[in-house]
Amino acid sequence: MDSPDKLKAMIKENVKKILTELPEEVELIAATKSRTPEEILEAIEAGVRMVGENYVQEAGDKFKVIGRCVQWHFIGHLQSNKVKRALEIFDMIDTVDSLELAYQIDKRAAEAGRIMPILIELNCAEEKQKFGVLPNQIESSIEQISKFCNIKIKGIMTMGPNLKEPEDLRPYFRRTCQIFNRMKSLNLSGVQMRYLSMGMSDSYGIAIEEGANLVRIGSAIFSRR
Ligand SMILES: *Cc1c(COP(=O)(O)O)cnc(C)c1O
Repeated sequence: MDSPDKLKAMIKENVKKILTELPEEVELIAATKSRTPEEILEAIEAGVRMVGENYVQEAGDKFKVIGRCVQWHFIGHLQSNKVKRALEIFDMIDTVDSLELAYQIDKRAAEAGRIMPILIELNCAEEKQKFGVLPNQIESSIEQISKFCNIKIKGIMTMGPNLKEPEDLRPYFRRTCQIFNRMKSLNLSGVQMRYLSMGMSDSYGIAIEEGANLVRIGSAIFSRR
């Protein structure tokens, strides 16, 4: 077991190494589920500007300690009854996967007098057990969601299937990037196809080669559990 100081030094080193590796146009979200505020603050000190949390309650607890020195991204599955609280914490909801959820976000954002940036989550491998909009429904979903006045679509996020070999994810990332480019070329009003979020600790290199400009990295920063 590493001492706390060793762990902190390691987090800093990992962040700095990843940030130097990333191409200039690629931004980093530190995936911070189950990490402590102390660990997260260490990553922030080393240069992390965006954190991604999977659970609203957990994020709220950490938010009280960390505050707005970093951008908060929601990267889990958002339930309708958590939307109101989520909007108090997060700067972007990266996992909008249904019209119903978009409707709830729009409603709560209107009440709060703000325009909420979101990403549309794509189920790129069409997995039955996974969340996300299916490829053949993404255009109509984006069109419909773009009509909500208090939401701003900023791009697409995908998880990809759980495969042992990161290289095997390449075709899914490629397909997602093709869809991203197609959605961009539609030039829908109120839609800004700015972010393509794909790639995690084992796969971010491949995701970047296939067009990702936002990567979500957890264990490569904070160590494996
Ligand atoms: C945990 C998580 C990550 C990071 O995964 P690692 O393999 O630890 O880098 C990325 N995206 C989402 C949605 C996650 O839940």
